[in-house]
Amino acid sequence: MLKFTPILLAVAYAFVMYRFSVWRTTQELNRLSSELADPILKHMTDRLAAALDLPRIRVHIYEIDPVNGLAAPDGRIFITRGFYRKFQSGEVNADELASVIAHELGHVALGHSRRRMIDFSGQNALRTALAMVLGRFIPFIGPWIAGALTSLLAARLSRSDEYEADEYAAALLTKAGIGTEPQKSLFRKLEKLTQARAGAAPAWLMSHPKTEERIGAIEKLEAKWG
Ligand SMILES: [Zn+2]
Repeated sequence: MLKFTPILLAVAYAFVMYRFSVWRTTQELNRLSSELADPILKHMTDRLAAALDLPRIRVHIYEIDPVNGLAAPDGRIFITRGFYRKFQSGEVNADELASVIAHELGHVALGHSRRRMIDFSGQNALRTALAMVLGRFIPFIGPWIAGALTSLLAARLSRSDEYEADEYAAALLTKAGIGTEPQKSLFRKLEKLTQARAGAAPAWLMSHPKTEERIGAIEKLEAKWG
């Protein structure tokens, strides 16, 4: 029993850290967000809701500047103030913003948002737990292997999550009569924004796979469905 105590402690620590990061993220989102009230976007989310047979889809504004969309572990969908400003200034149109909302809905529907909390905030806890376990069996390089394993796992998980969310969004946008074009045009726009301002990539692009590959995956779906 004594031999396993450190491992149990590490697992308990990872669990507590995970719960804590979910709580902290929820607090932060509650403090800095409000429900989005925009008639044009309401029209778009109503079309998505009708395609899903839902009464309505709520979208919240998260008061930060980086261009991003996110799905909270509790299933709420957020668009950042920075992203909304791009819509207000006409740089991003309503169909394109709807494609982001559809993508985030995909993360919720497919159960990614809970797991993503582990990706973003609980990664350290997982790394610590693994390092403690591996460190006992493989001294010195054990912790290093733990770090590499954690990063690899997180990257793999989030990559496949992104493609799945894109696929969900493509299907939903097609059913809602909006089509997949806005997904692709938004990717191109955000990519251009990245090139225009070197080093200032929108957060939403940074946490996602390569633009060209994402567009390619959507075109494959179009070919399959067409
Ligand atoms: Zn995503």
